[in-house]
This record gives sequence, C-alpha cells and structure tokens, in this order.
Amino acid sequence: MPSAVHVLEDDLRRFQASASLSSSGTCHYESGPANIGRPPPLVTSVDRLIMTDCGSSLPTFMRPTLSSVPRTSDLLKSSGGLAMGLIVAPMMPATKSGSGGSVSIATSGLGGSGGGGGGEDSIVRCIRCRAYMSPYMAWLDGGRRFQCGFCGARTDTPQSYFAHLDQTGCRVDAAYRPELRLGSYELPAPGLEYRRGDRATFNESPPPGIVFAIDVSYRAVHSGLTALVCDHLRRRLPAFLPSETAPDWQTQVSPRVGFLTYDRSVHFYNLSASLSQPQSLIVSDLEEPFAPLGAAISGGFLVDLSSSATLIDQLLESIPQQFADTAVSDIILGPVVEATLDAFTSCGSVGKLVLLHTGLPTCESAPGKLLQRDNRKLLGTEKESSLLSPVGDYYEALAKRCSDSGLGVDLFVCTDAAYADVATLGQLPFITGGSLYKYASFRSDTHGNQLASDLELAVSNCLAFDCSMRIRTSAGISCSDIHGGFNIVGEGILEAGAFSSDRAVAVELRHDSKLADDDAEPVLAQCALLYTGLSGHRRVRVHNLALATTGQLADMYRSADVDATLNLLVKAALKLLLKKGPLEARSALVSRCVGILTAYRRHCVSAGSSMGQLILPETLKLMPVYVNAIVKSDAFQGADISTDDRSYLMYLCSMMDAVASNVYFYPRLMPVHHLPPSREADDESDSDEAQDGVGDGKESDSADLCELNVKQIRCSVDRLKQNGVYLLENGIVMFLWLGSKVSSTWLLSVFGVNSVANVRCDQTELPRLDTPASRLIRRLVDEIRLRRRRHLRLYIVRPGDKFESWFLNFLVEDRASDFSASGEGWGSSYVDFLLNVHKEIRSKLG
Ligand SMILES: [Zn+2]
Repeated sequence: MPSAVHVLEDDLRRFQASASLSSSGTCHYESGPANIGRPPPLVTSVDRLIMTDCGSSLPTFMRPTLSSVPRTSDLLKSSGGLAMGLIVAPMMPATKSGSGGSVSIATSGLGGSGGGGGGEDSIVRCIRCRAYMSPYMAWLDGGRRFQCGFCGARTDTPQSYFAHLDQTGCRVDAAYRPELRLGSYELPAPGLEYRRGDRATFNESPPPGIVFAIDVSYRAVHSGLTALVCDHLRRRLPAFLPSETAPDWQTQVSPRVGFLTYDRSVHFYNLSASLSQPQSLIVSDLEEPFAPLGAAISGGFLVDLSSSATLIDQLLESIPQQFADTAVSDIILGPVVEATLDAFTSCGSVGKLVLLHTGLPTCESAPGKLLQRDNRKLLGTEKESSLLSPVGDYYEALAKRCSDSGLGVDLFVCTDAAYADVATLGQLPFITGGSLYKYASFRSDTHGNQLASDLELAVSNCLAFDCSMRIRTSAGISCSDIHGGFNIVGEGILEAGAFSSDRAVAVELRHDSKLADDDAEPVLAQCALLYTGLSGHRRVRVHNLALATTGQLADMYRSADVDATLNLLVKAALKLLLKKGPLEARSALVSRCVGILTAYRRHCVSAGSSMGQLILPETLKLMPVYVNAIVKSDAFQGADISTDDRSYLMYLCSMMDAVASNVYFYPRLMPVHHLPPSREADDESDSDEAQDGVGDGKESDSADLCELNVKQIRCSVDRLKQNGVYLLENGIVMFLWLGSKVSSTWLLSVFGVNSVANVRCDQTELPRLDTPASRLIRRLVDEIRLRRRRHLRLYIVRPGDKFESWFLNFLVEDRASDFSASGEGWGSSYVDFLLNVHKEIRSKLG
C-alpha cells in the first residue's frame, strides 16, 4: 500500500538527486528544454527546491496534467480517463525568498538598454494567431522573419525589434530579452487595443480603486463587525495597501481608496482632500441605485490614501458611533454592488469592491433580494444540488457586469448562525475573480484576528484588475473547457474584474487533429493575461509551456502529474455535482480513477505479473489515497456541516491551485512535540516515520518551516501517540492535538500549565511565552498561515473534546466516523478503498 508520506519524500529526494546544486548547496530545478516531457516536482517538493525558469513557466504558474501529450484523441481515450489539461495560476505570488521555489516575473521592454525600446513596439506577436513572442519562435532569413510555434505562420520582424542571428540561429540579444529566454515574462501594454470596453475611450488610466463596503445593520454592529473593520482599516490600511513602482521608476503608486456603508440604503462618502470633514450621500432609491456622485463626487469617492488621511481617519472613527444604536435589521446587497459599479464606470475607473457583509439580503423591493431557502435535510441526498446551486440569475448577471467593467469583488460573509445563501452570493467573487471568506457565528472577539488578517491578505494579494486572459495552444490542440469561475467569453478566453493571486483555473484540452509524429516538435501552451496593475498601467503577463508529444500510452503515464490531474478532476466533478447530484459526481471520480489504473494494468504492465498484485503507475501511486479523501471530504459530501459551509468549501475547491487542493484533501499532519529539536536520544523508538517529527533542524529559533524540517506523517489515527502533540492543517483550518500524556515540561514551555487538563482549549492563538518551544511553534503556525495566504483558525483539541471528532475527520486514511450516517460506502478507509479499487480493476480485466 503506497504511503503518501513516503511517495512525497521520494519525489523530493529524486529531484534533489537529479537537480543541480548551487554554490550554497540548495537544489535547483530547471523548467525548460532539459526537462521537457517529464512531470514537474510534486507540489510538496516545489517549496523545497529553488525553481529556475529556463524557457518554460514554473509549475507554480502552469502545471500540466501530462507533460507528454498523446498524439491522437484515441490514444488519450485508451488511457481510461487521463485528463489532458493545465492548471493555470497566472498571478501566483513569488514564494518567500529563502524557503525555496522562489519565482519572479521578469519585465521586458521597460526602456532599459538592451531590454527593448519600451512601448507598443516591444509587443511582438504572430500575425495570424496573435501569440506573444516566446522562446519557441523560430528565426528565419537572418532574423527578418519568425515562424510561430503555435500556428506555423511567418511574421516579418518589426524594424525596431530586429536583431542579427548567431551561428546557431538564435538572436544575438536573446540573453537580454526575457521574452526570448524565459517561460514567464511581463510587458507593458500601453496601446489602446490592450484596454477593455469603454476604458479605451478615456485618455487617462488612473490607479485602480479599492472600495470597502461596510455593513452597518443591526447584526453587523452587534457582532462587533462594523467597529472591528473600521478600527482595523484606520490603524492598518496604510501598512497593507499594496503599491508598485510606476514605469518611470521614480514613484511608488498605490490604488485609491473609497468607503461606503450600507444597511437598507447605501451611504457614500466624499473624502475629497479639499473638504474639512467627510460628506455623506445617501442612496435610498434601490430600484435605480445610481451613484449620487457623478461629477459631484468623482473627485472625492476614490481618493489617495495619504492626501485624504485626516478625512479617512475621521470617517472610520465616526462610523461605529454613528450606527451604534441602529435598529435596521434587513439589509441589501445588490444595490451596493450596482451603485459601486456606477461610481466606477462614471469615472472610467477599475478596481475592487471589498464587501464586509453579514447575511441574507432580505430587504423588500431591493434588487437581489434573497429568500430563506435553507433545508439542511437535503444535504447528502440527491436533492442537495438544488440547495447548493445559485438561485435565480441576478447575481450571476451582476457579476458579469462587474467583470466587464473591470470591477472585482471580494466577499467576506460574517454571519451569525443564520443562513446567508453563500451558494448564490458566492458568485460575485467566483465570477469577478475575487476572493471569498466566510466566518460561521461571527463575533469580533473570537474572529477578530482571523478577519483582520484575511482582509489584509486579500487586499495585499490583489495586484491585477480589469483582466482578460487567453490560452493559446499549438495547432491540433485547443481548449475544450475552463473550470474555476470567471466570465468565460470564448474558447480559452476569460474575463474578470480582478485576478486574485491565489486563484487558479483548470483548463481542459482536446485534440482537433492528429499531432505530428515528430519527437522534436513540442506542443506549446501560452497563457496571456492582460491586466491593469496597481499604478494604473496596462500590462500583459505571458506564461509559456512546452510539452512533449508521444504515441505511447506508457509515456503518458510516466509524464502524468497527480496534483494537476486531481485539481482538474475535482473542479470538473464539482460542476457535475451541481448538475447531476453528489452520487454521480463521486461515482464519476472513482470510476475515472479505476479506469486510469485499469488501462495502465492492461497496456503497460508485463503479461507475467500476478493478478493478485495491485500495480500502480509510479506517477499516480497516490491517486487512490487522494480520490478516497476527495469523495469523503466535506466539499463533496459534508452532510453534517451547514449549507453555507458546504457551499463555501465547494467554491474554495473550485478556485484553488494545485498546492491548495493537495493540502485540502490530504492535510499536513506534523508531530511538534520535538520542537525545538533535541540532540538527546529520544525515548520513542518506533521504526515508522512517526518516530521523529523533526529532522536535522538547527537549534535556532529563527529557522523557517523548511529549515525546521518539520516532517509530515500519514493522516491516520494510528500515527498519534498519547505522549505526542500534532499540528494538522489543510489550508483552511488548523488543529493542535494534545495527547493525554504529553510531558509537563513541554506543556509548561508552550502553554504555561503542567497538565493537559489545564490547557485552555477555547483559545485560538497559542500563549506568547518566552521559551524556545513556544517561539518555534508559534513561528510554525505563522509560517503556515503566510504560506496558505489565509488565516487558518487554530483549534486546540484534547482526546474526548467536542472538536475531536471534527479533527479525526481530517485523518483521511481512516474510515470516516460518520460512515454509517453518510451511507453508500463513501467513508471507507484507505485500505478498504484500495482493496475495492483492486477488485474492480480485476473484474474489468477478467
Ligand atoms: Zn501563430
């Protein structure tokens, strides 16, 4: 039975062994011609390697499900279900430097010497398919023409872009031009043809605006939401509002900011620096919620943070007092978005709306009114999809209008226990390219830290507005579908108001014709994202990927990537779940897994092998453990969580990149009772990987997660020891499980108490004690939150506590605790699932 942890460790070791060592002893992985046709390191290894772009985008940005694509659709079909596709995350941020996998986007054509002259001339594209310049264009006629690697058309080199070729046929300036050397690069795109919609008619493109819309209804005020948000923005906004260097290299430019409050009407604020105090303008006409601003406020709605600092401070201080005694309990949402949209479009601005919202918009007569339609009894039944699908088309249409106008929406749902119809409201971030956050039973004293950090991360992670993205592929291959939200406007084309850094789409590819029988001719994929940056300047970010082609099934299996495959299959299955119900979605996933493994056994394993032996393809060894975890995850079958939580998880899984989906379905479980690592011989001596949570970490408090080398162990209760302490995280939530016999020394140094019974389990942060163990564990927690770009709430769990069964649910190799309740055999342990898969493979072959 393949152990997930061993497979992950082997993958890292294999890449460490084959990768070149830098002078500092760090391992490098090069994406480019040297590795064409081979799958990239697994997502778990990427963090530990320094990744270098040598002509192909790093797997962080584009991760193929198959690095060797089949030459015919028949060959693809004969694999029994392997997916041909890409996970594309164009705005994924650079990994923290020093923790490995550091990536950066080279900017070309910014007027530097040798970097091109800047301006539109530096954007060179194929005359026929409009593909952007890449290392895969062939230079002809001494450099006067180039042949497109995508469509084969020949384009004259613009005079200003001409360079001579060297003896090998490469341009002599290739080393200085990112677009000729790298898989990923950016170019300024100032030309009018690179703007979208009406924005091409405005002469100026001001910096984008970020508008904070704060709910001030009774529930928001009484849960502490209003005061918390105002206070946090007042103190911290200048610190976390992102900025970028304008193309003149002289100035740092930040987006402009705006504020509005709402309950059953919308209150705009004029914060023009020329005023002595903020002016409020109330929109109560909900049918036609135009922004009252027009000329009157266009100069005062979106303002520069520093110029209007005093007014912003006054406003944020006054809001909580102003609404302290509110009795308004019904709220609106649609008109808030519509009025903001009007305000943006009237001044030709793009940007983001951050909604800090409490619940169901029930206000009579307001567009977008939603009804209470929750019926938890339906969850887990075949009728659940009616509950989990959005109701009506108002929010979808509104989200598309926002996307058209360059407005992204981040939605923070801060409800009390009541139903908020996340299934419907979630379309706003899903389609506009924003982020979604939800807090159940929100109270500012228990969720304050979490909301504040998520708000900071969401705002600081948004660097791209008014986006349009296109995937181009070599002739013979095209995009058949895109999963993961956004406004899909054509084959391989999507549009969005914004593109949050952590968003990824799964692109499915299909054959249009048979590919050439030529090993030397790669299949290319290019993702071009046009967007407006923080300073208001238009750019294009280009990612290129070269894949090998093959006529052999075995090569496809050798080049398969389990992380990308499952990310794609999950996104497709969630769509299916809404259409056809949970049973069909889960069955489809399992039978696809069985199909893929059966075809491997039938065509790629020598005839002499015993049928009694389960033989899995090396690259897909983890498919069974992952698929079993997926079908019993809360996103796919959570019947004992709220309807809103279920919708929330389904949206998150649909928007995730391959790293996030991997950790969500197979959580990281790490022993931490050895922190700080001791050099003394340990009292435990089991031979399993659980024996020692910590490798050869240095005894330094300042080590980061990788240097600490905290090892992951298998997600099974068998691995837990009563004298141990374990941290589990899945990218959304985090648990610290304390065994009943944890040493008092450890407890004293981390919790300041000497027995497990005295640990306060209601705390969501660890006590700040000045001991090495306390510092290291808190650092580990911080590091995980930073890495996941989300504030994972920490639950401290002891054996027998009320949250323990929730924690045990994440030990995905075990049989699900609610197995009998959920029925249908979807809660089996990894062993049972694997036995079943084996049985099915045998019966198919038999
Ligand atoms: Zn072309």
